[in-house]
Amino acid sequence: MGRAEDEVVTLTSELIQIDSQNTGELETTTGEAEAAAYVDAKLREVGYETEVVESGAPGRHNVFARLKGADPDRPALLVHGHLDVVPFNEAEWSVHPLSGSVQDGYVWGRGAVDMKDMDAMILALARQFMAEGTVPPRDIVFAFLADEEAGGAYGAHWLAEHRPDLFEGCTEALGEVGGFSLTLGEDVRVYPVMTAEKSIAWMKLRVRSRPGHGSMIHDENAVTILAEAVARLGRHRFPLVLSESVQGFFDEITALTGIEFPTDSAAALDGAVAKLGGVARVVGATTRDTANPTMLQAGYKANVIPSVAEATIDCRVLPGRQEAFERELDELLGPDVEREWIRNLEAVETSFDGELVDVITRAVQEEDPQAHTLPYMMSGGTDAKAFVKLGMRCFGFAPLRLPPDLDFTALFHGIDERVPVDALQFGTRVLERILRSC
Ligand SMILES: [Zn+2]
Repeated sequence: MGRAEDEVVTLTSELIQIDSQNTGELETTTGEAEAAAYVDAKLREVGYETEVVESGAPGRHNVFARLKGADPDRPALLVHGHLDVVPFNEAEWSVHPLSGSVQDGYVWGRGAVDMKDMDAMILALARQFMAEGTVPPRDIVFAFLADEEAGGAYGAHWLAEHRPDLFEGCTEALGEVGGFSLTLGEDVRVYPVMTAEKSIAWMKLRVRSRPGHGSMIHDENAVTILAEAVARLGRHRFPLVLSESVQGFFDEITALTGIEFPTDSAAALDGAVAKLGGVARVVGATTRDTANPTMLQAGYKANVIPSVAEATIDCRVLPGRQEAFERELDELLGPDVEREWIRNLEAVETSFDGELVDVITRAVQEEDPQAHTLPYMMSGGTDAKAFVKLGMRCFGFAPLRLPPDLDFTALFHGIDERVPVDALQFGTRVLERILRSC
């Protein structure tokens, strides 16, 4: 085998060819075991003693391997990636989403940026380090995980709860999402380090009221009461709240480009954020809580007023805002609407400082002298939510130097998902520097 940089494209392509779509249903999510077997074989081939762990349901396989470091007294670093991908509609793509084809300077297919690219970088480096006898400064635990795309109940969260021994000694974690370059003006590139994530809080709303005949006067209709509450919530704008990570992101961009981010009104801030291009849709969502109605259910016949009406709301709450958010919810919904969390994975945040952050910054600057790192909050969530519960500081950094005009954030879960070949190789070099000096 060659160096990681030479192998990473093939590994990315072969991982994409394994169909590990996560449908969110146990019966139809079946490909993770094959992806895990592939990773396991690649690690064993170079001499790792791996452990393959099933996380709570048949076929939900995760692979663990530990590389001993030079200093056994230092805490270990967890380096993790998920092996599942979101589903796709083949008809919408210009190449087959499972082709992993390498053309026009890109590797194409579902998972190319989320996150079989980083899986391949991690795997290639784990193989290279073992093959050449590299001893990192401290223990590195490599983890390839199931079920991230459905929230990790059959992956990271199960493992953190039932097998904390697998993460023994890990105080920091490195995974997705960050590390992709954003080009600002003349040859200035920023590489966000993910230091925070909003919560994933799915809520069921329910109105119970008096049923009746659809032909009669009826002023307590559950559908009407629910619809009014859903509309109030959907139109509501939660207040601007800049957490440390988001403020740090804005401050660094202001220092580099002069773009100011005024906070006197949401419209002014949104206008400034829009200047950042594609990433604006993520960054904008990290300046406030959101509550988007996504599902409605009520009734069974056109002339029967039902006794129950239900709605599902996708809420994403900023770190430290849960209580205030719920107070605001209750005011908006009023006394006639019951609410219940059907999933509530808390927001997480760590500070943008410490040795690992310095190592990341140095590594990326050694490969790209125009690079600047800055903290970043994800509007979605990752497996970091599970590892925070084990006391780890979690960072997201999947390094990719991207062409300035590529709308990268649109590729996540998107059509024609693809990753530039040279970005993959760049990322592998950066990650190698990080792991060699972590
Ligand atoms: Zn992902």
